[in-house]
Amino acid sequence: MGASLLLLAVLPLASWSAGDAPVPRVLLIGWDGARRARVQELMSAGRLPNLSRLAAAGRWVDIQVTGDPPQTKPGWARMLTGYDSQITGVCKNQIYWPIPVGLTIFERLKQRYGARITTALLGAVQHNLGARGPHRICVNCVDQVQNHWWDEDLSRPVRPWGKKILRLMEGEPYLNARPAIDVYEVGIATPVYQTGIGAADLVGARVLDCLDRHQEGGLFLFVQFFDPDTQGHLHSEGSPEYIRALIEDDRWLGRIMSRLGSRTDASRTLLYVATDHGFEKDSPLHEDGNFQESRRSWLVTNDLAVRRGQGDICDIPTTILKRFDVRAARSDTPLKGQPLD
Ligand SMILES: [Zn+2]
Ligand SMILES: [Zn+2]
Repeated sequence: MGASLLLLAVLPLASWSAGDAPVPRVLLIGWDGARRARVQELMSAGRLPNLSRLAAAGRWVDIQVTGDPPQTKPGWARMLTGYDSQITGVCKNQIYWPIPVGLTIFERLKQRYGARITTALLGAVQHNLGARGPHRICVNCVDQVQNHWWDEDLSRPVRPWGKKILRLMEGEPYLNARPAIDVYEVGIATPVYQTGIGAADLVGARVLDCLDRHQEGGLFLFVQFFDPDTQGHLHSEGSPEYIRALIEDDRWLGRIMSRLGSRTDASRTLLYVATDHGFEKDSPLHEDGNFQESRRSWLVTNDLAVRRGQGDICDIPTTILKRFDVRAARSDTPLKGQPLD
């Protein structure tokens, strides 16, 4: 009895209130820039068999990207916090601050479960999921996919218009969250950034490795597959390259599902597959906030508690936090999203 009392005394309150229930295992798989209508068209044609299988056994939700521009940095920042840029400070790809302390899913889960959960962020490219402190970006450089800015520290071919204009940034979005992320790997696909060929293989291999290493206890793993976005900018949405990128991501979804399926804990692994923004039809762009197709996102999940057919991008993290039984502290600004139940 003395021993059990001692044990109770050293357990943090959060763990005590969680009781002995196993901590959930959740994978949030991002297909960056996957246009909703194209994904549905390919599913109907039987070309995304794994996503179709997941949707058939689970749910499809139409997700709307409201508020901030349909871009990568604010898109994932919302998906990983449940807040818009007024709270996160991640406004556009080139206008951002570190997300304030404590607001990411990673930090909330660590605060709640401590060592009982593994948190992981696996990013194909560094510049949208970074955690660096002060750094400089070039705001008038143009890279091969026509973003009108570039990160000074990343070696990309740039065509400066006259003199480079550099802006000092305070820090990347995940700077404050970084200590709460156990497995942090970004820039996994940087070696093939210019063509994007083979990017899914590099990223997918890291996911399987992470699953193999962390088979016990709770898990929250976010992974960004960047393939549709890269090929969309290089060759346009709807191009054979763009379609191949979606098929590649689907192939990796299948491998991840089979890996989970071979585990005894598969029944309690929740999978959410979603995109940060869409793309304009047959266009190399999604950047403009007025483009309606770019604001159409989607979610496919095996989470059968999801009942709604439509939602906001901020509803996804709110749903995930609910599955983990994490509520925002009373002092926090309320989450923007509502659970998709
Ligand atoms: Zn994106
Ligand atoms: Zn993009």
